Amino acid sequence: ALTAGIVGLPNVGKSTLFNAITQAGAEAANYPFATIDPNVGIVEVPDERLDKLTELVKPKKTVPTAFEFTDIAGIVKGASKGEGLGNQFLSHIRQVDAICQVVRCFQDENITHVSGKIDPLDDIEIINLELILADLETVNKRSQRVEKLARQKDKEAVAEQEILVKLKAGLEEEKPARALDFSEDQWKIVKGLHLLTAKPTLYVANVSEEEVADPDGNENVQKVREFAAAENAEVIVICAKIEEEISELDQEEKEMFLEDLNITESGLDKLIKASYHLLGLATYFTAGEQEVRAWTFREGMKAPQAAGIIHTDFERGFIRAETVSYEDLVAAGTMGQARENGKVRLEGKEYIVKDGDVIHFRFNV
Ligand code: GDP
Repeated sequence: ALTAGIVGLPNVGKSTLFNAITQAGAEAANYPFATIDPNVGIVEVPDERLDKLTELVKPKKTVPTAFEFTDIAGIVKGASKGEGLGNQFLSHIRQVDAICQVVRCFQDENITHVSGKIDPLDDIEIINLELILADLETVNKRSQRVEKLARQKDKEAVAEQEILVKLKAGLEEEKPARALDFSEDQWKIVKGLHLLTAKPTLYVANVSEEEVADPDGNENVQKVREFAAAENAEVIVICAKIEEEISELDQEEKEMFLEDLNITESGLDKLIKASYHLLGLATYFTAGEQEVRAWTFREGMKAPQAAGIIHTDFERGFIRAETVSYEDLVAAGTMGQARENGKVRLEGKEYIVKDGDVIHFRFNV
């Protein structure tokens, strides 16, 4: 399963956030893919569309979709040189598909900061630099091999060498690989290198309880936003401490609590949604009387592969996908009416599933 890794310097609020994630956690029994590991937290993906479909179809059961966050502890300065837990830290990052970097924006004299002051850009730089140095090593090693082949005019090697030269130059200017300009074909080759700084990244600005309703008053948040914009990265503002408290509440209490704070959506819900998109994931639905359910697929997947997420038999015996968009179904009110409106399509093997599709798969057994 795809997973987003949570990283950050010590004392920025990672554990607090990860606690919130595991306490809010999904019922593992519903999710056979779930990894059983104390460093992995499964979260349900909040989706208003699932609630609406439940209202329309009135099934016996509703099951949201879920994915995993991995808590990656132990970043230290010098990680790329293998100091302390450094190597382990980097190998854990290598295994995740996207990175959520927690950045401390809250002031609290009682909680020391590793660098002695609150400076989120400094913090980001410390972490990014370790990742950049590790990537430079990867690129250099790869270059030595590719250079030889390129000298023999191996076509693929020549193309790759061009990319490696560009990567090296960018990384040496302390730019992450994800911020560099490559064509789509070149990106495929970059992905094959499994660089740490090529992973999609978002920054989680952790603010104090007082600031969460109006985070833009916090100048550190502003700085993080500017930095991220230059990198095409997203920023989510949360107060980890509040999220930890919210995660202990039931749904109704949670809504009241958020209302008191003057916010409409919890920071954790925002983070879950943003991470899901960061991972390139999207949702389709199945809606029957027994069960209304959300399913995660990778953007760009064709109908048979998406069917295979439910069951391998669905993929093997795929005939077609009876599909209606969520909007068309809601506008029609019932599946029967949607069909009468001509909104239910019969899609075949080449259909690329879209976010929000409500699908009934037809298959041979
Ligand atoms: P980690 O080392 O990054 O895992 O940091 P922790 O989650 O252990 O947090 C370090 C300290 O900061 C703990 O005492 C937390 O209670 C506190 N902390 C975390 N988030 C917040 C926050 O949003 N506001 C305040 N005031 N304190 C926080």
